[in-house]
Amino acid sequence: MSLVTTTEMFKKAYDGGYAVGAFNVNNMEIVQGITEAAGELKSPVILQVSKGARAYANHTYLVKLVEAAVIENPEIPIALHLDHGDTFELCKSCIDGGFTSVMIDASSKSFEDNIALTKQVVEYAHANGVVVEAELGTLAGIEDEVVVEAGHESYTRPEEVEEFVDKTGCDSLAIAIGTSHGAYKFTPDQCTRNADGILVPPPLRFDVLEECIKRLPGFPIVLHGSSSVPQEFVKMVNEHGGQMPDAVGIPEEQLRQAAKLAVCKINIDSDIRLAMTGNIRKYFDEHPDHFDPRQYLKPARQAVKDMVAHKIKYVLGSDGKA
Ligand SMILES: [Zn+2]
Repeated sequence: MSLVTTTEMFKKAYDGGYAVGAFNVNNMEIVQGITEAAGELKSPVILQVSKGARAYANHTYLVKLVEAAVIENPEIPIALHLDHGDTFELCKSCIDGGFTSVMIDASSKSFEDNIALTKQVVEYAHANGVVVEAELGTLAGIEDEVVVEAGHESYTRPEEVEEFVDKTGCDSLAIAIGTSHGAYKFTPDQCTRNADGILVPPPLRFDVLEECIKRLPGFPIVLHGSSSVPQEFVKMVNEHGGQMPDAVGIPEEQLRQAAKLAVCKINIDSDIRLAMTGNIRKYFDEHPDHFDPRQYLKPARQAVKDMVAHKIKYVLGSDGKA
């Protein structure tokens, strides 16, 4: 199988009541960890590249790593997606350079300007067999170069979604229902604390999601900022010299609930970073004399694989759906 678009993936996910994981990739170990898990569990998967990832690793390296993963995992559909494209030129560069899906995120612009830029990208993408994700509403938090301060986020307005999809022709829509980018998705004063002192975030706005679904029957919805920030990794970081107090994510059971509805793509990035960092910190702490990168990257890669396998089975529900 070669790289695919998300069209078939999303149709099956919508009808089957599950979601496909979109995991951010930045290097070989991350690509391998994700695709080994998806391959063993016979799950479709989306590998996504941000502007920051392209700046870090170089477009060609990332495309070739993903192509290697496709060769190594011939039984599962894999899509290569641009995460948060912010200009037509960036989207065009990825479309011309082998991606099968791009996101144009013009959500910080006016409704009219968002429509105009998204439409421009859709026309070029569709002419080249590539699909487009767009966004309405803005998430709080930080993801590479996308920074929205707390208090400046805004939920998607369901009354806008039909006109937006109609006028742009986009293939999927990212909406804002209270997820957030980064490992600190909520401030302590936005949360309550459980008996163990761990922050409990405010629930996602399922009322907004359901209103969007009603207005866009059959249309794939995307959730960004959907890491759950597993406390086992936060603890591992903090126990081995790190300082990440009050890191908090989206509870997995809420994501599972969204995956059963029209949410067909769930984005996960911070959990990959946490799995790697926690395990590398632990390794260095326990083996202060080791200096071969293979020694500490091996458990980091394994941790990514185990974390992704957990998401596929218990959050996304995409195992066995390849
Ligand atoms: Zn995002």
